Amino acid sequence: MRATVMFGAGDVRIETVPDARVIEPTDALVAVSRACVCGSDLWPYKSMEHSDTGLIMGHEAIGVVESVGADVRTVKAGDLVVMPFAYSDGACAFCREGLHTSCFHGGFFGTAEVAGAQAEAVRVPQADGTLFVLPVGKDDALTASLLTLSDVMGTGHHAAVAARVSPGKTVAVVGDGAVGLCGVIAARRLGAEQIIILGRHADRISLAREFGATDVVSERGDEAVERVRELTGGFGAHSVLECVGTEQATLTAISIARPGGAVGRVGVPHYETIPASEPAFYNNVTVGGGPAPVRAYIEELLPDVLEGRIKPGRVFDRVVGLDGVPDGYRAMNEREALKVMVEP
Ligand SMILES: [Zn+2]
Repeated sequence: MRATVMFGAGDVRIETVPDARVIEPTDALVAVSRACVCGSDLWPYKSMEHSDTGLIMGHEAIGVVESVGADVRTVKAGDLVVMPFAYSDGACAFCREGLHTSCFHGGFFGTAEVAGAQAEAVRVPQADGTLFVLPVGKDDALTASLLTLSDVMGTGHHAAVAARVSPGKTVAVVGDGAVGLCGVIAARRLGAEQIIILGRHADRISLAREFGATDVVSERGDEAVERVRELTGGFGAHSVLECVGTEQATLTAISIARPGGAVGRVGVPHYETIPASEPAFYNNVTVGGGPAPVRAYIEELLPDVLEGRIKPGRVFDRVVGLDGVPDGYRAMNEREALKVMVEP
């Protein structure tokens, strides 16, 4: 089969690789209908050391089940499914608590252990716990929004949950990538009154406004902190969604939180130590978050997608076939594309 293989920084190729297949009795084989390039794929795209074998990339997909292992009970051949970026058994102590990304038998797609989904097909471990069967047809108009339930919409929602968004709250979203924009959707959905987006790309800002952002801060660093203070009557935001993952973004996020407020971090951290320890302490700011258990959120978010109340699929601004994936990485890395959808 054909798949996207990253061999090192800036080196993404479409290669013929051994066919994905069922290996464990708990696996499913899924033919990929749609996949995505993720902002988090850009970190290895910038920094991965050369590897002769490379990594089959991709952790977000919708597809049709082709076959299942002997122990799979809840999904069957022909089902249209969404594949969260982490696989999980759905049965262990952490899965039962809704924290599927800490599953005892779980892991992540697009790693050395489990190949990714920017490919014609993907092997899905723990198929019963991982896959969610969708109640729509394969080429439904809602496909783009349903695809975001595999990562970015669930991740934006997780940031909002970790930042304790609730009705009437003032929310700030750091980052105008796909996750930040989904964070705006999530904040509005949870009843936030004021939603401040921190970002500087005109097209993304205008989408953020359509999603419910009430204010825009395009400054950075200390100036951004000052602007947010002005916009919040000097208090800061109750809830801050950190959707970037750099030390600077995290410093800004903690600095704009109101005393007693909370920061929800979902940007994969590329720093060793959480900054602003002292202000966080003296302001009683809770700093939480982590990899989103998106599998836990699909049931909650799905009705809003199906009934058109939220349209997170609007974050996709480019569609490519497999051959277009290397250029899709380039375009996202150069901020020419917001989020790339792949039709293998
Ligand atoms: Zn589990």
